[in-house]
Order: sequence, then C-alpha cells, then structure tokens
Amino acid sequence: MCSASSDFGQFSGCAAGAHVLSGNVFEPRALDELIPNWRQEDSPIRVPVSSDKFWLLTKNQAWTLPSPFDNKGNYVISLSQLVRWMGTKAEELGVEVYPGFAASEILYDENQIVTGVATNDVGIAKDGTKRETFQPGVELRGRITLFAEGCRGSLSEKIIRNHKLRERGQGQHQTYALGIKEVWEIEEGKHKPGSVIHTVGWPLDTKTYGGSFLYHLDDRQLAIGLVVALNYRNPFLSPYDEFQKFKQHPAVRELLEGGTAIQYGARTLNEGGFQSIPYPVFPGGAIIGCSAGFLNVPKIKGTHTAMKSGMLAAEATFKSLVEGSSMELYWENLKKSWIWEELHKARNYRPAFEYGFIPGMALSALERYIFKGKSPYTLKHGRPDHEATDTANLHVPIQYPKPDGQITFDVPTSLYRSNTNHEHDQPPHLRLRDPTIPEQVNVPLYAGPESRYCPARVYEYVSDEKGDPKLQINAQNCLHCKACDIKDPKQNIEWTVPEGGGGPGYTVM
Ligand SMILES: Cc1cc2nc3c(=O)[nH]c(=O)nc-3n(C[C@H](O)[C@H](O)[C@H](O)COP(=O)(O)OP(=O)(O)OC[C@H]3O[C@@H](n4cnc5c(N)ncnc54)[C@H](O)[C@@H]3O)c2cc1C
Ligand code: SF4
Repeated sequence: MCSASSDFGQFSGCAAGAHVLSGNVFEPRALDELIPNWRQEDSPIRVPVSSDKFWLLTKNQAWTLPSPFDNKGNYVISLSQLVRWMGTKAEELGVEVYPGFAASEILYDENQIVTGVATNDVGIAKDGTKRETFQPGVELRGRITLFAEGCRGSLSEKIIRNHKLRERGQGQHQTYALGIKEVWEIEEGKHKPGSVIHTVGWPLDTKTYGGSFLYHLDDRQLAIGLVVALNYRNPFLSPYDEFQKFKQHPAVRELLEGGTAIQYGARTLNEGGFQSIPYPVFPGGAIIGCSAGFLNVPKIKGTHTAMKSGMLAAEATFKSLVEGSSMELYWENLKKSWIWEELHKARNYRPAFEYGFIPGMALSALERYIFKGKSPYTLKHGRPDHEATDTANLHVPIQYPKPDGQITFDVPTSLYRSNTNHEHDQPPHLRLRDPTIPEQVNVPLYAGPESRYCPARVYEYVSDEKGDPKLQINAQNCLHCKACDIKDPKQNIEWTVPEGGGGPGYTVM
C-alpha cells in the first residue's frame, strides 16, 4: 500500500515481508529492469533453479510427466525475505516505509477523488472503549494513491466495487485458490538446492483444481505447499487436511522424514488471469499487483507481474505529478507491456479445468503445444467461488487421518510456527454482515464449511446452552489469507485489517 505525493510509503506487518507468503520460484524479468545489477548485490536471490519436474500423483505412485514449466533462468527464493531486502533498498533511496500500520479507510475529497488512506485507531478495546495504549489513526494524503494489498485487498476490493472497475475491465469475476505452505529443514542427503517439483492429482479429486509444489532453497530448506482452487464443491473438504494428507504420499513423506517443520502459513492467490483484470485506474490513483490480479496461473507466478505493474504505475505517477498527465497512461502502458502479452497467452489454461481434470489437462496440452497461446477462442470462468459450494446433502463427510506429530500436524502446532500475533483486546476484524447466517444457513445447508476452509481454525462451532451449534470466531489466530472473505457461501464475512501490524510473522515464507 503506498500513498504518494513525491515519495512512496509502504505498509505491511510488523516488519516488511512479515505477512508475505509465496512459493516462490522467482522470474527475475522485472527485477532485471528495475535493478539491472542486482546480481552483484547481496540479495536473498541465491539459488538458481537446477531441475524442473512434474509428477502426476496417485495414492501410492508418482508418475513423471513432461514438465509444462520452463524455469530455466529462474530462482528459488523466500518472497518474504526478498520483500524485506527490497524494503531496505527503498529506504536507502529515501522512501519512507511504515511496517506495522494497516490502511483501514480510503479518503475521498468532496468530488469523490481518492486523496489517500487512513490507518485505524490503535488501542481500542473489544467493547469500543479506549485502552491506555490508544493512539488515533493517521491520515496519509497524496495526489496519487496506489493500492498494492495483494490478493483480495480489503480496500482495493472496495475501490473496484465503488468505481465498477471490473465492469470497465475484462468483465469477469475474479477466481481464487488457497495455498497452504510449510518450510522444512530436511536431511542433507535429500536436499538438492534449486530442485523444483510440481504435482497434480492425489490427494485432490478430479473435480477439484489444484496441485502442489516442492522447492529446494539453500541451507537444507524445502518449501512445500498445496494449492486448492476455491471453487471446490464439496463443503466437507478441508484444504488444511488435504495438505496433511499430501505430505503422507510415499514420495513426499520420504523427503520429509528426519527433517523439521520450521514455518507454516497460508494465503490466497488469484486465478482469474486475463479474463478478470479490472480497469485498474480510478480518480486519484490506481491498483497494482495481485490486488488487480496479474498472476499468471499456468506459471503459478505473480511476483514478476506485480513488480512490473508497480513500475508502470510508478512511471505514470511520476509523469502525472511532474507533467500533469493522466494516470490512464498506466492502463495504456499495461496493455502494451509483456504482462498483457503473458496473461493473454495464458488465458485458457485455468478455465479449461471447469470441464474436469482430464479435459483440463488435454486442453492445456493443446494450448501449450499446438496453439501456443494463439487459440482463436477465450474460455470463460465458471461460477464465482462462493457460489460453487454444493449443499452438504450432496456429499458425505470426509474422514481425515489424525496427525502423527512428525510429518502431519494439528492446527495449533502449525499456528505456533506461523508466529501469528494479534492484540487480544480489540474489536473483531472479521465481521459478519448478518450474524444469524452461520447458524441459520451455513450449518443446515453447508455443514458449517468455514470451520474447514479456514486454515487457522478461526471459525469454530461450539454448543450453546441448548446444545445448538453457535459460531465462535477466534480472530487472534487469523493468518490473513482472505479465504473466508472469498468462500463464505453467502458472502457474509468481511475481512478488515486488525490493529497495527497484527497477523502472521513470516520470516522464510
Ligand atoms: C502459495 C503461493 C505460491 C506462490 N508461488 C509463486 C511463485 O512460485 N512464483 C511467483 O512469482 N509467484 C507466486 N505466487 C504469487 C505471488 O506470491 C504473488 O503474485 C505476489 O506476492 C503478489 O505481490 P503483491 O505485492 O501484489 O501482493 P503481496 O505479496 O500479497 O503483498 C501485499 C502486501 O500488502 C500488505 N497489505 C495488505 N492490505 C494492507 C492494508 N490494508 N494496509 C497495509 N498493508 C496491507 C500485505 O500484508 C502484504 O505485505 C504464489 C502465491 C501463493 C499464495
Ligand atoms: S479467518 Fe479468514 S483470513 Fe483469517 S485465516 Fe481464516 S480464512 Fe484466512
């Protein structure tokens, strides 16, 4: 999030990068343009991709398929570490960085032009009274405000809605996936720096889009994660438990045995691609990065496009401030940039899986090897993720195995590893638009899916005095993944920023 007049300020968790979770196989294209000599600097980009494998998993087998990825020249990194490094670089250039402050409000002038953001008040108790630590929020005003909150940004979504930017852009709704990730320290003999493996298939069923990643960093570290598209239909599915199951696959378990899980986290990512790009300019500013949805799904990469969109917006901002030109220049240059070309080429991969796993794989192969992004059609996305959930009577509950405490873990153990921290005595940052919907709709129709899709077990049904289920929200556990804001069947949950820098404390994600 940055608000600019002549300089930029950026906010995130209690330290730059503390809320950032990614894979991450990093394509350096945008960084090469931004800092051409970065390779001579002491950056956390140290591990070039050394091999690229693609597995189809069945319950007990891993079949090697031709890899659809081309990661030559890319690097395996921790994005939270790269963000921290870039935060320092920005400060060296005189940029003011304010980690620990969350923007909670969009400021407008009398003509409805965005003039900046305000941070929320700090030190308000649950009951609304002021605690000893009270500090009023501050207004940060600028001639241009750029919103860079990542996937499903809480303020960016308001701007998109209020200014009807989706209708003005490519027109379709955004679609999402939830990524659940751990970083492990594995045994020396099993560690191959730069090795990249992606998998599809087990444990996900053929109607659920998703897959896993295993990236070998340096220092014996392994990033392992499962990405599950949020248009899954079975309300009994638990992405967290699917991830635990995935780690039990013989080919994966073997890699983890003897190792130690050191960090856990979760975050949503955009999957709408080209069809879902909103018009990213509004009076007073623009939206950049994953808040606008520039992730390339078949590559599973959005870091390079987020960075490039920030560069294009910064150039348009500079011209606007110095020469008085319009921010429309950002949109025009975006359409001429390699982001546009990449996303256009990649546009049919994700919607192809609307027809199921096998047709999806077949259509993807057609796109990659025959049409090479020049297919004469553009496929449409299916229903929005919150509408895709079936009612519970169409499915049977899924019985997930109990965690073994070595390779698979319960949620409290994982949460401890996410370093999540929120001030307990603060107004809830997860708001129910209608407090009766959980008990009156979500339980009877969908068997309370929020208790399963949330990877931090923030939503728990407990029995009230009559023995009826009552929703309890453990907001202090929230990982800020935004899945609840997306997947709640009635769109009844509003994710808002909590006090200050509350949230996960990622260091190697
Ligand atoms: C599991 C997973 C795997 C991925 N793998 C890869 C990969 O291998 N390669 C790749 O290139 N990409 C990958 N991506 C995508 C990549 O992480 C994103 O495209 C990229 O991080 C987007 O950058 P961004 O700056 O737009 O948003 P983010 O990186 O999400 O950063 C947004 C920042 O804004 C902060 N913020 C949000 N709201 C506010 C607010 N209101 N006030 C103040 N601060 C706020 C957040 O805390 C965060 O620090 C992956 C994503 C996931 C989830
Ligand atoms: S409460 Fe919502 S945003 Fe927080 S961890 Fe759970 S699903 Fe994610």
